Amino acid sequence: MRRVPCSIVGSLLAVLVFLAATARAEEPAELVLGREIVFLRPVGGLGAAFSRFTLAFDLVKRRESEDVTRPVRAYPPLVRAVREYREFVERRKGAPVPLFVALGEDLEGTAYCMTQPAIVRAVDGKGRARTLPVIGPIIHLSKSDLARIRSSAPDGPAVLCHEIGHAFMVQAHGLLDFPGESPEHAVQLVSREGHWYTKETDPVFAYTEGWAEYTQCRYVGSEPSPRLIRLPAGTDVKAGDQESRLMTAAEIRRHEGAQAYLLFHLERALGRHEFYRELLDVMAADRPRTLNGLLRAYAVRHPDRKEEVDRALQEVSHGAFEVDYSYTRDDLKDETRGSWERLQEAVRKRLGGK
Ligand SMILES: [Zn+2]
Repeated sequence: MRRVPCSIVGSLLAVLVFLAATARAEEPAELVLGREIVFLRPVGGLGAAFSRFTLAFDLVKRRESEDVTRPVRAYPPLVRAVREYREFVERRKGAPVPLFVALGEDLEGTAYCMTQPAIVRAVDGKGRARTLPVIGPIIHLSKSDLARIRSSAPDGPAVLCHEIGHAFMVQAHGLLDFPGESPEHAVQLVSREGHWYTKETDPVFAYTEGWAEYTQCRYVGSEPSPRLIRLPAGTDVKAGDQESRLMTAAEIRRHEGAQAYLLFHLERALGRHEFYRELLDVMAADRPRTLNGLLRAYAVRHPDRKEEVDRALQEVSHGAFEVDYSYTRDDLKDETRGSWERLQEAVRKRLGGK
């Protein structure tokens, strides 16, 4: 079983407070915007327990922290992903936006991508400090991610390709309309169990994480296993054993690994590298909250390709998944109900001390 890093928390209140505080801030643009990846160091003092709530960062200069920044900047899958990220954002906003990566030397756990306001401080050659307000996705690397990158493991920076998948989604949806808000985030926080490929969650959560994992797989070139759309055939058979059955469509909607598998193999079956970009455009236009919603919106925007996509989906899912054109918000509500129950259960366990 593979633990997939990351969580996303939108903080509307913090955004509003931040906007009020920085409404008149001067913009020293040249400090940041010219670069492709901008590394940040959380301004310390809050301690590890509060490192997730940091809003102030120092800019990491080129010659600093090179044991991390150099392998990250030189990692080909990430170079490609960042280039496409900048192109996508630029096409939508008309201005280049770098990828912000915070080096969380005190951060326990795994990386995450958070939509947040931030103040970035930079000191120029003459020792003058200037600040730049930033609002948007910031990827936070944890202590263990940094150790892995420093160890020169060949795919050490691969986690960033997962996180940039979230950053793409944030940019497509806009800051306040991100689909990732699901009770499953609270389940993770309360239970501290995280999430992984084969974990059963809900259609919104599984979609956002499946998308991020698909992003990583396509840039890194690692093929998701066909086992990801299979479940143990009986209760006495553990996941990964030979005896298994194909998931149903409803089960696929609740499993992030299955969704990563389908998207990856769908892109490959269609033979279209630009499929990813087309999906992003659909995301930006229609803001779907589930995989089904994304593929349905794609079919509507690309009617000439609908038949081909339906056929490819049928093929890669072995008939288990097809776009449900009549899926409604009520259906989604029904399928999300389990998350609320899991949240109550997680809270009960924590309160009970077990
Ligand atoms: Zn993630």
